[in-house]
Amino acid sequence: MESTFLTAEHARLAAEAWAFARDSLAPAAASEEAADDVDSLARRFVRRMAEAGILRHCVPAAFGGATERVSFRSLCVIREALAYASGLCDSMFALQGLGAGPIAFFGSTEQRAEWLPKVAAGTAIAAFAMSEPGAGSDLSAIATTARRENSHFVLDGVKRFISNAGIADFYVVFARAGNPGEKPALSAFLVPGDNPGVRVQERFDLLAPHPIGEIALDECRLPRSALIGEEGRGLPVALATLDAFRPTVGAAALGLARRALDESLDRVTSRIQFGKKLADQEGVQFMLADMATELDAARLLVYRAAYRQDMGLSRITLEAAMAKAYATEVAQQIVDRAVQLHGAAGLVRGYEVERLYREVRALRIHDGATEIQKVVIARELIQRHLGEAAE
Ligand SMILES: Cc1cc2nc3c(=O)[nH]c(=O)nc-3n(C[C@H](O)[C@H](O)[C@H](O)COP(=O)(O)OP(=O)(O)OC[C@H]3O[C@@H](n4cnc5c(N)ncnc54)[C@H](O)[C@@H]3O)c2cc1C
Repeated sequence: MESTFLTAEHARLAAEAWAFARDSLAPAAASEEAADDVDSLARRFVRRMAEAGILRHCVPAAFGGATERVSFRSLCVIREALAYASGLCDSMFALQGLGAGPIAFFGSTEQRAEWLPKVAAGTAIAAFAMSEPGAGSDLSAIATTARRENSHFVLDGVKRFISNAGIADFYVVFARAGNPGEKPALSAFLVPGDNPGVRVQERFDLLAPHPIGEIALDECRLPRSALIGEEGRGLPVALATLDAFRPTVGAAALGLARRALDESLDRVTSRIQFGKKLADQEGVQFMLADMATELDAARLLVYRAAYRQDMGLSRITLEAAMAKAYATEVAQQIVDRAVQLHGAAGLVRGYEVERLYREVRALRIHDGATEIQKVVIARELIQRHLGEAAE
Protein backbone atom coordinates (compact mmCIF):
# COMPACT_ATOMS: atom_id res chain seq x y z
CA MET A 1 0.00 0.00 0.00
CA GLU A 2 2.84 2.37 0.87
CA SER A 3 4.05 2.45 -2.73
CA THR A 4 0.52 2.54 -4.18
CA PHE A 5 -1.03 5.31 -2.13
CA LEU A 6 1.82 6.90 -0.17
CA THR A 7 5.08 8.53 -1.24
CA ALA A 8 8.47 8.41 0.46
CA GLU A 9 7.62 11.85 1.87
CA HIS A 10 4.54 10.39 3.60
CA ALA A 11 6.68 7.59 5.01
CA ARG A 12 9.10 10.19 6.43
CA LEU A 13 6.21 12.16 7.89
CA ALA A 14 4.75 8.98 9.40
CA ALA A 15 8.04 8.29 11.20
CA GLU A 16 8.03 11.87 12.54
CA ALA A 17 4.38 11.69 13.66
CA TRP A 18 4.87 8.32 15.38
CA ALA A 19 7.97 9.64 17.17
CA PHE A 20 5.96 12.67 18.35
CA ALA A 21 3.12 10.44 19.55
CA ARG A 22 5.53 8.15 21.38
CA ASP A 23 7.70 10.83 22.98
CA SER A 24 5.30 13.72 23.57
CA LEU A 25 1.88 12.18 24.05
CA ALA A 26 2.23 9.00 26.01
CA PRO A 27 2.90 10.77 29.32
CA ALA A 28 0.15 13.32 28.63
CA ALA A 29 -2.33 10.59 27.75
CA ALA A 30 -1.55 8.85 31.01
CA SER A 31 -2.28 12.00 32.99
CA GLU A 32 -5.41 12.79 30.98
CA GLU A 33 -7.71 11.13 33.48
CA ALA A 34 -6.16 13.02 36.36
CA ALA A 35 -6.54 16.41 34.69
CA ASP A 36 -10.02 17.71 35.30
CA ASP A 37 -9.60 20.60 32.93
CA VAL A 38 -10.05 19.34 29.41
CA ASP A 39 -9.64 22.86 27.96
CA SER A 40 -6.14 23.30 29.39
CA LEU A 41 -5.12 19.89 28.14
CA ALA A 42 -6.55 20.64 24.70
CA ARG A 43 -4.65 23.93 24.52
CA ARG A 44 -1.46 22.21 25.67
CA PHE A 45 -1.78 19.64 22.88
CA VAL A 46 -2.25 22.41 20.31
CA ARG A 47 0.89 24.17 21.57
CA ARG A 48 2.90 20.95 21.49
CA MET A 49 1.77 20.11 17.97
CA ALA A 50 2.60 23.64 16.83
CA GLU A 51 6.09 23.41 18.32
CA ALA A 52 6.65 20.10 16.57
CA GLY A 53 5.52 21.60 13.24
CA ILE A 54 2.63 19.14 12.96
CA LEU A 55 -0.10 21.77 12.62
CA ARG A 56 1.61 23.11 9.50
CA HIS A 57 0.05 20.19 7.66
CA CYS A 58 -3.41 21.73 8.18
CA VAL A 59 -2.80 24.71 5.86
CA PRO A 60 -1.20 25.36 2.44
CA ALA A 61 2.46 26.44 2.21
CA ALA A 62 1.60 29.99 1.17
CA PHE A 63 0.12 30.51 4.66
CA GLY A 64 2.75 28.79 6.76
CA GLY A 65 1.89 25.23 5.76
CA ALA A 66 4.16 22.26 5.16
CA THR A 67 3.13 21.44 1.59
CA GLU A 68 1.94 23.49 -1.36
CA ARG A 69 -1.60 22.18 -0.94
CA VAL A 70 -2.94 20.38 2.12
CA SER A 71 -2.18 16.69 1.66
CA PHE A 72 -5.00 14.54 2.98
CA ARG A 73 -2.70 11.54 3.06
CA SER A 74 -0.46 13.53 5.38
CA LEU A 75 -3.44 14.34 7.59
CA CYS A 76 -4.34 10.62 7.68
CA VAL A 77 -0.79 9.55 8.50
CA ILE A 78 -0.69 12.09 11.35
CA ARG A 79 -4.14 11.26 12.72
CA GLU A 80 -3.34 7.56 12.77
CA ALA A 81 -0.27 8.21 14.92
CA LEU A 82 -1.93 10.75 17.22
CA ALA A 83 -5.04 8.65 17.86
CA TYR A 84 -2.81 5.69 18.76
CA ALA A 85 -1.62 7.71 21.76
CA SER A 86 -4.37 10.21 22.58
CA GLY A 87 -7.87 10.71 21.22
CA LEU A 88 -7.95 14.26 22.52
CA CYS A 89 -4.73 15.29 20.81
CA ASP A 90 -5.98 13.71 17.59
CA SER A 91 -9.27 15.65 17.89
CA MET A 92 -7.44 18.93 18.38
CA PHE A 93 -5.38 18.27 15.27
CA ALA A 94 -8.50 17.28 13.30
CA LEU A 95 -10.35 20.43 14.30
CA GLN A 96 -7.49 22.70 13.26
CA GLY A 97 -7.80 21.08 9.84
CA LEU A 98 -11.60 21.03 9.70
CA GLY A 99 -11.90 24.67 10.79
CA ALA A 100 -9.16 25.82 8.42
CA GLY A 101 -10.48 23.73 5.51
CA PRO A 102 -13.37 25.97 4.38
CA ILE A 103 -11.07 29.02 4.58
CA ALA A 104 -8.27 27.32 2.65
CA PHE A 105 -10.66 25.94 0.00
CA PHE A 106 -13.17 28.79 -0.35
CA GLY A 107 -11.99 31.77 1.75
CA SER A 108 -10.91 35.18 0.51
CA THR A 109 -7.23 36.12 0.34
CA GLU A 110 -7.71 38.30 3.42
CA GLN A 111 -9.36 35.51 5.43
CA ARG A 112 -6.60 33.10 4.48
CA ALA A 113 -3.86 35.57 5.31
CA GLU A 114 -5.40 36.45 8.66
CA TRP A 115 -6.30 33.01 10.02
CA LEU A 116 -4.37 30.20 8.33
CA PRO A 117 -0.90 31.18 9.61
CA LYS A 118 -2.36 31.29 13.13
CA VAL A 119 -3.85 27.81 12.72
CA ALA A 120 -0.45 26.50 11.63
CA ALA A 121 1.30 28.25 14.51
CA GLY A 122 -1.27 27.07 17.05
CA THR A 123 -2.04 30.67 18.04
CA ALA A 124 -5.64 30.31 16.87
CA ILE A 125 -7.89 27.38 17.75
CA ALA A 126 -10.45 26.51 15.09
CA ALA A 127 -14.05 25.28 15.22
CA PHE A 128 -16.61 24.11 12.66
CA ALA A 129 -20.16 24.97 13.73
CA MET A 130 -22.84 23.21 11.76
CA SER A 131 -24.96 21.05 14.10
CA GLU A 132 -27.94 22.49 15.96
CA PRO A 133 -30.49 21.18 18.47
CA GLY A 134 -32.87 20.44 15.59
CA ALA A 135 -30.28 19.69 12.90
CA GLY A 136 -27.83 16.83 13.42
CA SER A 137 -27.81 14.37 10.54
CA ASP A 138 -30.29 16.54 8.64
CA LEU A 139 -28.49 19.64 7.37
CA SER A 140 -31.64 20.86 5.65
CA ALA A 141 -33.05 21.56 9.14
CA ILE A 142 -30.38 24.18 9.97
CA ALA A 143 -32.33 27.11 11.38
CA THR A 144 -29.63 29.67 12.26
CA THR A 145 -30.34 32.80 10.24
CA ALA A 146 -28.08 35.47 8.76
CA ARG A 147 -30.03 38.61 8.02
CA ARG A 148 -28.54 41.32 5.85
CA GLU A 149 -28.34 44.76 7.42
CA ASN A 150 -26.66 47.32 5.17
CA SER A 151 -23.03 46.29 4.99
CA HIS A 152 -23.42 43.64 7.71
CA PHE A 153 -24.90 40.23 8.36
CA VAL A 154 -26.60 39.56 11.69
CA LEU A 155 -26.60 35.93 12.81
CA ASP A 156 -29.09 34.41 15.23
CA GLY A 157 -29.37 30.79 16.30
CA VAL A 158 -27.95 27.99 18.40
CA LYS A 159 -25.13 25.61 17.45
CA ARG A 160 -24.99 22.41 19.48
CA PHE A 161 -22.28 19.78 20.01
CA ILE A 162 -19.61 22.11 18.68
CA SER A 163 -16.10 20.91 19.39
CA ASN A 164 -13.90 23.64 20.88
CA ALA A 165 -16.95 25.70 21.93
CA GLY A 166 -15.53 28.20 24.39
CA ILE A 167 -11.87 27.77 23.49
CA ALA A 168 -12.07 28.48 19.76
CA ASP A 169 -10.57 31.69 18.39
CA PHE A 170 -12.82 31.40 15.35
CA TYR A 171 -15.87 29.41 14.26
CA VAL A 172 -16.87 28.52 10.72
CA VAL A 173 -20.63 28.92 11.09
CA PHE A 174 -23.31 27.73 8.67
CA ALA A 175 -26.45 29.89 8.60
CA ARG A 176 -29.33 30.68 6.25
CA ALA A 177 -28.93 34.02 4.54
CA GLY A 178 -31.34 35.87 2.31
CA ASN A 179 -33.57 38.91 2.08
CA PRO A 180 -37.22 38.64 3.13
CA GLY A 181 -39.11 36.88 0.35
CA GLU A 182 -36.02 35.04 -0.86
CA LYS A 183 -35.56 31.32 -0.24
CA PRO A 184 -32.79 31.34 2.37
CA ALA A 185 -29.88 29.13 1.40
CA LEU A 186 -26.97 28.08 3.57
CA SER A 187 -23.99 30.40 3.70
CA ALA A 188 -20.71 29.95 5.54
CA PHE A 189 -19.33 32.66 7.83
CA LEU A 190 -16.07 33.23 9.62
CA VAL A 191 -16.96 34.27 13.16
CA PRO A 192 -14.21 35.37 15.57
CA GLY A 193 -14.62 33.75 18.98
CA ASP A 194 -14.50 37.16 20.71
CA ASN A 195 -17.44 38.57 18.75
CA PRO A 196 -19.84 39.93 21.43
CA GLY A 197 -22.72 38.05 19.76
CA VAL A 198 -21.11 34.65 20.49
CA ARG A 199 -21.95 33.08 23.84
CA VAL A 200 -21.18 29.60 25.16
CA GLN A 201 -24.38 28.55 26.88
CA GLU A 202 -23.65 24.93 27.75
CA ARG A 203 -20.74 22.52 27.91
CA PHE A 204 -21.01 18.74 27.69
CA ASP A 205 -18.99 16.14 29.55
CA LEU A 206 -18.50 13.28 27.07
CA LEU A 207 -17.51 9.64 27.55
CA ALA A 208 -13.93 10.52 26.56
CA PRO A 209 -12.33 13.94 27.24
CA HIS A 210 -13.30 16.39 24.50
CA PRO A 211 -14.00 20.15 24.65
CA ILE A 212 -17.54 20.46 23.31
CA GLY A 213 -20.58 22.60 23.93
CA GLU A 214 -23.42 24.71 22.69
CA ILE A 215 -23.02 28.28 21.45
CA ALA A 216 -25.72 30.87 21.07
CA LEU A 217 -25.45 33.48 18.33
CA ASP A 218 -27.41 36.49 19.55
CA GLU A 219 -27.51 39.42 17.15
CA CYS A 220 -24.02 38.43 16.08
CA ARG A 221 -22.97 41.23 13.72
CA LEU A 222 -20.44 40.45 11.03
CA PRO A 223 -19.07 42.49 8.15
CA ARG A 224 -19.83 41.18 4.66
CA SER A 225 -16.18 40.18 4.43
CA ALA A 226 -16.98 37.40 6.95
CA LEU A 227 -18.72 35.39 4.22
CA ILE A 228 -16.71 32.32 3.22
CA GLY A 229 -17.24 31.79 -0.49
CA GLU A 230 -20.37 33.11 -2.13
CA GLU A 231 -23.58 33.94 -0.35
CA GLY A 232 -26.03 31.04 -0.63
CA ARG A 233 -23.23 28.58 -1.52
CA GLY A 234 -22.63 27.31 2.00
CA LEU A 235 -23.81 23.77 1.28
CA PRO A 236 -21.04 23.06 -1.25
CA VAL A 237 -18.55 24.53 1.27
CA ALA A 238 -19.83 22.16 3.96
CA LEU A 239 -20.07 19.08 1.74
CA ALA A 240 -16.69 19.51 0.04
CA THR A 241 -15.02 20.04 3.42
CA LEU A 242 -16.72 17.03 4.98
CA ASP A 243 -15.93 14.79 1.98
CA ALA A 244 -12.26 15.76 2.16
CA PHE A 245 -11.96 15.22 5.91
CA ARG A 246 -14.00 12.01 6.26
CA PRO A 247 -11.11 9.71 5.33
CA THR A 248 -9.11 11.35 8.11
CA VAL A 249 -11.77 10.27 10.64
CA GLY A 250 -11.21 6.76 9.32
CA ALA A 251 -7.48 7.27 9.88
CA ALA A 252 -8.10 8.16 13.54
CA ALA A 253 -10.10 4.93 13.82
CA LEU A 254 -7.08 3.06 12.39
CA GLY A 255 -4.86 4.53 15.10
CA LEU A 256 -7.19 3.45 17.90
CA ALA A 257 -7.66 -0.01 16.37
CA ARG A 258 -3.94 -0.49 15.85
CA ARG A 259 -3.32 0.35 19.50
CA ALA A 260 -6.03 -2.14 20.49
CA LEU A 261 -4.38 -4.87 18.43
CA ASP A 262 -0.92 -4.11 19.84
CA GLU A 263 -2.25 -4.11 23.40
CA SER A 264 -4.03 -7.40 22.71
CA LEU A 265 -0.88 -9.02 21.34
CA ASP A 266 1.06 -7.92 24.42
CA ARG A 267 -1.63 -9.31 26.68
CA VAL A 268 -2.22 -12.71 25.05
CA THR A 269 1.47 -13.47 24.64
CA SER A 270 2.09 -12.90 28.35
CA ARG A 271 -1.05 -14.06 30.18
CA ILE A 272 -1.14 -17.73 31.19
CA GLN A 273 -4.44 -19.56 31.60
CA PHE A 274 -5.10 -23.32 31.42
CA GLY A 275 -1.33 -23.82 31.69
CA LYS A 276 -0.45 -21.98 28.49
CA LYS A 277 -0.43 -18.54 26.96
CA LEU A 278 -3.77 -17.17 25.81
CA ALA A 279 -2.09 -16.72 22.42
CA ASP A 280 -1.85 -20.52 22.14
CA GLN A 281 -5.65 -20.89 22.18
CA GLU A 282 -7.05 -21.26 18.68
CA GLY A 283 -10.13 -19.18 19.57
CA VAL A 284 -7.88 -16.30 20.61
CA GLN A 285 -5.83 -16.65 17.42
CA PHE A 286 -9.00 -16.36 15.34
CA MET A 287 -9.86 -13.11 17.11
CA LEU A 288 -6.39 -11.71 16.42
CA ALA A 289 -6.62 -12.76 12.78
CA ASP A 290 -9.97 -11.00 12.34
CA MET A 291 -8.69 -7.86 14.04
CA ALA A 292 -5.60 -7.63 11.84
CA THR A 293 -7.47 -8.40 8.62
CA GLU A 294 -10.20 -5.84 9.28
CA LEU A 295 -7.61 -3.25 10.23
CA ASP A 296 -5.73 -3.72 6.97
CA ALA A 297 -8.93 -3.66 4.90
CA ALA A 298 -9.93 -0.40 6.61
CA ARG A 299 -6.47 1.05 6.01
CA LEU A 300 -6.75 0.37 2.28
CA LEU A 301 -10.12 2.14 2.09
CA VAL A 302 -8.85 5.13 4.08
CA TYR A 303 -5.69 5.69 2.05
CA ARG A 304 -7.46 5.05 -1.26
CA ALA A 305 -9.93 7.83 -0.45
CA ALA A 306 -7.20 10.22 0.73
CA TYR A 307 -5.09 9.42 -2.35
CA ARG A 308 -8.00 10.21 -4.67
CA GLN A 309 -8.65 13.45 -2.78
CA ASP A 310 -4.99 14.48 -3.16
CA MET A 311 -4.93 13.54 -6.84
CA GLY A 312 -8.10 15.58 -7.45
CA LEU A 313 -9.35 12.71 -9.62
CA SER A 314 -13.02 13.44 -8.89
CA ARG A 315 -15.33 14.13 -5.95
CA ILE A 316 -14.58 11.39 -3.46
CA THR A 317 -18.04 11.29 -1.88
CA LEU A 318 -18.41 7.51 -2.30
CA GLU A 319 -14.88 6.55 -1.31
CA ALA A 320 -14.86 8.92 1.66
CA ALA A 321 -18.15 7.57 2.99
CA MET A 322 -16.96 3.96 2.61
CA ALA A 323 -13.67 4.72 4.35
CA LYS A 324 -15.30 6.58 7.24
CA ALA A 325 -18.10 4.08 7.81
CA TYR A 326 -16.01 0.92 7.48
CA ALA A 327 -12.96 2.08 9.42
CA THR A 328 -14.95 3.44 12.36
CA GLU A 329 -17.22 0.38 12.55
CA VAL A 330 -14.38 -2.14 12.47
CA ALA A 331 -12.35 -0.05 14.91
CA GLN A 332 -15.24 -0.33 17.36
CA GLN A 333 -15.25 -4.14 16.91
CA ILE A 334 -11.48 -4.40 17.20
CA VAL A 335 -11.43 -2.36 20.40
CA ASP A 336 -14.31 -4.42 21.78
CA ARG A 337 -12.38 -7.65 21.08
CA ALA A 338 -9.32 -6.13 22.73
CA VAL A 339 -11.33 -5.49 25.90
CA GLN A 340 -12.62 -9.08 25.72
CA LEU A 341 -9.08 -10.44 25.42
CA HIS A 342 -8.03 -8.45 28.49
CA GLY A 343 -10.90 -9.87 30.56
CA ALA A 344 -11.79 -7.87 33.67
CA ALA A 345 -8.50 -5.98 33.44
CA GLY A 346 -9.75 -4.36 30.25
CA LEU A 347 -12.45 -2.57 32.20
CA VAL A 348 -10.11 -0.99 34.71
CA ARG A 349 -9.56 2.76 34.40
CA GLY A 350 -5.99 3.44 33.43
CA TYR A 351 -5.70 0.41 31.15
CA GLU A 352 -5.14 1.44 27.57
CA VAL A 353 -7.98 -0.67 26.20
CA GLU A 354 -10.43 0.98 28.59
CA ARG A 355 -9.37 4.36 27.18
CA LEU A 356 -9.73 3.06 23.64
CA TYR A 357 -13.20 1.68 24.40
CA ARG A 358 -14.39 5.16 25.42
CA GLU A 359 -12.56 7.05 22.70
CA VAL A 360 -13.63 4.95 19.74
CA ARG A 361 -17.36 5.42 20.26
CA ALA A 362 -17.77 9.00 19.05
CA LEU A 363 -16.20 8.30 15.66
CA ARG A 364 -19.27 6.41 14.44
CA ILE A 365 -21.46 9.43 15.17
CA HIS A 366 -19.66 12.67 14.30
CA ASP A 367 -18.86 13.83 10.75
CA GLY A 368 -21.97 11.93 9.65
CA ALA A 369 -23.15 8.81 11.48
CA THR A 370 -22.51 5.41 9.89
CA GLU A 371 -26.11 5.20 8.72
CA ILE A 372 -25.76 8.53 6.91
CA GLN A 373 -22.58 7.26 5.22
CA LYS A 374 -24.55 4.22 4.06
CA VAL A 375 -27.29 6.48 2.67
CA VAL A 376 -24.56 8.39 0.79
CA ILE A 377 -22.91 5.20 -0.51
CA ALA A 378 -26.21 3.78 -1.75
CA ARG A 379 -27.22 7.10 -3.35
CA GLU A 380 -23.90 7.35 -5.20
CA LEU A 381 -24.15 3.74 -6.39
CA ILE A 382 -27.69 4.17 -7.66
CA GLN A 383 -26.88 7.47 -9.40
CA ARG A 384 -23.87 5.94 -11.12
CA HIS A 385 -25.89 2.91 -12.17
CA LEU A 386 -28.70 5.01 -13.60
CA GLY A 387 -26.17 7.29 -15.30
CA GLU A 388 -24.46 4.32 -16.96
CA ALA A 389 -27.81 2.79 -17.97
CA ALA A 390 -28.83 6.08 -19.63
CA GLU A 391 -25.61 6.30 -21.72
C1 LIG B 1 -17.47 14.06 19.75
C2 LIG B 1 -18.35 14.85 18.84
C3 LIG B 1 -17.87 16.02 18.27
C4 LIG B 1 -18.69 16.78 17.45
N1 LIG B 1 -18.20 17.94 16.94
C5 LIG B 1 -18.99 18.68 16.12
C6 LIG B 1 -18.50 19.92 15.58
O1 LIG B 1 -17.36 20.33 15.86
N2 LIG B 1 -19.31 20.65 14.77
C7 LIG B 1 -20.58 20.23 14.46
O2 LIG B 1 -21.24 20.95 13.71
N3 LIG B 1 -21.08 19.08 14.96
C8 LIG B 1 -20.32 18.30 15.78
N4 LIG B 1 -20.81 17.14 16.33
C9 LIG B 1 -22.18 16.77 16.07
C10 LIG B 1 -22.27 15.66 15.04
O3 LIG B 1 -21.98 16.15 13.77
C11 LIG B 1 -23.69 15.08 15.14
O4 LIG B 1 -23.76 14.40 16.38
C12 LIG B 1 -24.00 14.12 14.01
O5 LIG B 1 -24.16 14.80 12.78
C13 LIG B 1 -25.28 13.33 14.28
O6 LIG B 1 -26.31 14.17 14.63
P1 LIG B 1 -27.16 13.92 15.98
O7 LIG B 1 -26.21 13.64 17.08
O8 LIG B 1 -28.11 15.02 16.12
O9 LIG B 1 -27.95 12.57 15.69
P2 LIG B 1 -29.34 12.44 14.91
O10 LIG B 1 -29.31 13.20 13.64
O11 LIG B 1 -30.44 12.68 15.86
O12 LIG B 1 -29.30 10.89 14.54
C14 LIG B 1 -29.29 9.89 15.56
C15 LIG B 1 -29.10 8.55 14.90
O13 LIG B 1 -30.25 8.28 14.06
C16 LIG B 1 -29.83 7.53 12.94
N5 LIG B 1 -30.18 8.25 11.72
C17 LIG B 1 -30.30 9.59 11.54
N6 LIG B 1 -30.69 9.86 10.28
C18 LIG B 1 -30.80 8.68 9.65
C19 LIG B 1 -31.16 8.29 8.31
N7 LIG B 1 -31.47 9.19 7.36
N8 LIG B 1 -31.17 6.97 8.01
C20 LIG B 1 -30.86 6.05 8.95
N9 LIG B 1 -30.51 6.35 10.21
C21 LIG B 1 -30.49 7.64 10.56
C22 LIG B 1 -28.30 7.33 13.07
O14 LIG B 1 -28.03 6.11 13.72
C23 LIG B 1 -27.88 8.47 13.98
O15 LIG B 1 -26.70 8.18 14.71
C24 LIG B 1 -20.01 16.35 17.16
C25 LIG B 1 -20.48 15.16 17.72
C26 LIG B 1 -19.67 14.42 18.56
C27 LIG B 1 -20.19 13.15 19.15
